[in-house]
Amino acid sequence: MKTYRERLLQKKHEILEAYQKNKTYGMEADENGAQDLADKASNSYTKEFLFSLSNSERDTLQLVDEALVRLEGHNFGVCVVCEDEMDKKRLEAVPWAQRCISCQEKQEQGLL
Ligand SMILES: [Zn+2]
Repeated sequence: MKTYRERLLQKKHEILEAYQKNKTYGMEADENGAQDLADKASNSYTKEFLFSLSNSERDTLQLVDEALVRLEGHNFGVCVVCEDEMDKKRLEAVPWAQRCISCQEKQEQGLL
């Protein structure tokens, strides 16, 4: 059973690795490079790097980073809207989720 932190870092790694594979300027993508990137703080990303990601990758990466910060701050797993604890199953499926299911539904319906 992986911890949330491991899952978050793994997701981050997947995004960064996909980025490295897409990189065109002659450097061989290597596993360690992606891992090093994954360990760096979010504010170390370059504009060029963020620009090269798709919108959904960029959004997910940001959510993953925010979730990692919440893990450090011990408010991980708490809905950012209603401040209730989120369902464990939801967190296991989407550890970077910000909202509980009911707040997420309201958000998707444009009610928030
Ligand atoms: Zn909520």
